[in-house]
Amino acid sequence: MIQMQPLSFELNALEPVISAKTLDFHYNKHYATYVQTANDLCAKTPLAELPLEDIILDSYNVPESKALYNNAAQSFNHGFYFAGLKKNVPMPKELEESLVKEFGSIKDFWEKITTTGVKQFGSGWVWLVWTGVKMDIIGTANADTPLIHHLTPLLTLDVWEHAYYLDYQNRRADYLKALQSIINWDFVANNFQKACK
Ligand code: FE
Repeated sequence: MIQMQPLSFELNALEPVISAKTLDFHYNKHYATYVQTANDLCAKTPLAELPLEDIILDSYNVPESKALYNNAAQSFNHGFYFAGLKKNVPMPKELEESLVKEFGSIKDFWEKITTTGVKQFGSGWVWLVWTGVKMDIIGTANADTPLIHHLTPLLTLDVWEHAYYLDYQNRRADYLKALQSIINWDFVANNFQKACK
């Protein structure tokens, strides 16, 4: 049974970057529906007992499991997105050094995130990933997730319109820039540490 990742803050805690209304719809409607649908599709099958990551890998590229893959991957992507958001978490020094080493500067890192997010045609995600040898920034379309590409996610930003339209309308770049101030850097650093082991 797939569980929703609990939010570690109140719905209004990310304002003014993300309004309580957006977070309420996004978490309690969109995310909850992906999890509920994935669970409904898995019910009474052997997949129901598997961890979410295994459900995603098992259903990927299986034509009759397309709906399950989409909803399971979106369940993972959203849990990861919400866990990566929090106010007032400073970037740990070691992570900062690694980001600067990889991308040139923190400014360049954010520029690459924003450009990748803006260029992502239609719905999708921007990710900071660990490839096994280095950090990289990639975009994925719709429900696509780094797990199926053998990449370890470190951070994701949702660029589906439901993530920002109430607050930013069509201004996706402004939304991505604003997110810079509410990243849960401890979550990213922890993922990076585990990935590099
Ligand atoms: Fe979303």
